[in-house]
Amino acid sequence: MTQELGITVKKNQDSSEWYTQVVKKADLADYAPVKGCMVIKPYGMKLWESIKDDFDSKIQETGVENAYFPLFIPESYLEKESDIVEGFDPEVAWVTHGGNKELEERLAVRPTSESIIAPFMSDWIRSHRDLPLRLNQWANVVRWEATDTRPFLRTREFLWQEGHTAHGSEEAADEETMLRLEQYREVIEDHLAIPSILGYKPEHDKFPGAKYTTTIETLMPDGKSIQSGTSHQLGQHFAEAFDITYEDRDSEEKAAWTTSWGLSTRTIGALIMAHGDDEGLRLPPSIAPIQIVVVPIFQEDNKEEVLDYAEQISEELEDKGLRVEFDYRDHRTPGYKFNEWELKGVPLRIEVGPNEMEDDAVTTVRRDNGEKEMGLDREQFLEDVKDVLEDIQQSLYDELDEYLEENIREASSKNEILATIGKNRGYVKTKWCGDEACEEEIKDEVSAEIVVLPFREDSKPATIQESDEEIEGECAICGDKAKRWAYFAKNY
Ligand SMILES: [Zn+2]
Repeated sequence: MTQELGITVKKNQDSSEWYTQVVKKADLADYAPVKGCMVIKPYGMKLWESIKDDFDSKIQETGVENAYFPLFIPESYLEKESDIVEGFDPEVAWVTHGGNKELEERLAVRPTSESIIAPFMSDWIRSHRDLPLRLNQWANVVRWEATDTRPFLRTREFLWQEGHTAHGSEEAADEETMLRLEQYREVIEDHLAIPSILGYKPEHDKFPGAKYTTTIETLMPDGKSIQSGTSHQLGQHFAEAFDITYEDRDSEEKAAWTTSWGLSTRTIGALIMAHGDDEGLRLPPSIAPIQIVVVPIFQEDNKEEVLDYAEQISEELEDKGLRVEFDYRDHRTPGYKFNEWELKGVPLRIEVGPNEMEDDAVTTVRRDNGEKEMGLDREQFLEDVKDVLEDIQQSLYDELDEYLEENIREASSKNEILATIGKNRGYVKTKWCGDEACEEEIKDEVSAEIVVLPFREDSKPATIQESDEEIEGECAICGDKAKRWAYFAKNY
C-alpha cells in the first residue's frame, strides 16, 4: 500500500489521529481556513444526503412540511426568550457591519432557530384548526465552539435539520417529541447500523427553557458516548414568550405547546468512529454511496474479454437497483484499487479475472469481516447478493451491539462508580436521586457525567410508553430514594 493512500495508525492506539486520517484519506472532508469549519467533499456529502433522504421521507410521511427561515436573527428576537439567550450567548457569532456601515442592531448567525421561527408561528396560528403546525428546515447553524474542533464531530458550522411544531395539548406535544426521537432511532439503528440508548437528559442539562429533552446516545469504540440527536418538549414556555396562541373550540385564547428536534452532520462522525477499522471506513450497505465495487483483473492479452465480463456483471447488479462502481481504470493495479475501496468502506468487492470469466463465476470479499469467497457461480451470486448485503448490515450492527452490552456496567456506590469509570470504557449504570449535586460529585473527580436517563431498564430501544417507570432502591451517591437509572460516561 502506498504511504499516502493508507491509514498509518491503528484505531485503538491513536483514535484521534486515526479519525483525522480517515476523514481526509477517504475523501469525506477537508479543513477550512476558519478553524472549526469544514469542507464536506462529495463522498462525505453523499453520506449526509442519504441520512437526509431517509429522515426527510419519515417526517414528511408523518405530517411535517419543509420550510426555510433566515440565517440572520435580529438581537431583539433572540432576547425575547431569556433561556435561549443565556444558553447560547457564549456561542453566538454576531454580524455587526453591512459593508462598511455599522448595523443599528446586531444580527446573530443562527445557533438554532426557535427565536426566528416562533414569531411566524405566532402569526400563522389563529385557531385550533391551524394545529398541529409542523415545520422543518434543512439548514446550517453556527455555534462558536471554543474547545477542540474536529470535522463532523465538533464543528463551529454544521448542517442539520431542525423541526419546530406547535400543538393544542400537552399530550400531543409529548407524542410529537417521542415520535421524532423514535424516527431518529430508526435512522441511527436501521440505516447507520449503530445500536443506541434512548432516554432523557437530566433536568439541568436539557435544552434551555424546555420542559424536557430526550436524546439518542451511542457508544463509540473509544468508550465515549455521543449524542446523535435530541428531541425537546418545550412546554408552553416558548409559546408564551413569542405569543403563539390559538382560539380553542370554546373561543378561549390558549397558549400552544411546542417542540423542537434536531439531527446534525455529527452523525457522520459517529458513523466513521463506530464502524471504521485499521483499513479505514466500513459503511453499512444501507447508507454506502457505493454498495459494490467490481474490480477486473486482467493481462494485456485478455483485457478486453475480462473487461466485458466485469462490465456485464456490473450492469446485472445495477439492474437489481444496487449502487455499483465498475473500476476499469487501467493506470491503477488491482491491489491499489482494493486498498482504496477498503479505505472508502465499500461493503462488498467483486473480483473478476480470467478464471472467473471461464467458469462464469465471481470472487467476493466482504468489507465487514474480510471474508473472501472464490469462484461463486455468477447466477447464484446474483440471486443471493441482496441477502449478502443485508447480512453485512446486520453483522455491523451486531458487532456494536455486543460491544455495547459488554460496556454497560452497574455500580452501586460512589467509589464503585469512580473505580468503574477509571478502569473501563463505556457506561456506568447507577441508581440516581435526581439531584445535580450527586452528579457533580462524580464530575469533580473524573471527567464523566450523566449522559442519559434511559427509558427502560434494559436500555434496549425503548417503547416510549414504558419510559417512566419508577425504580426501587437508593441513589448510589447520597443514599436518598432513587428516581431513575442514570448512565454516566465520558462524552463528546
Ligand atoms: Zn443522590
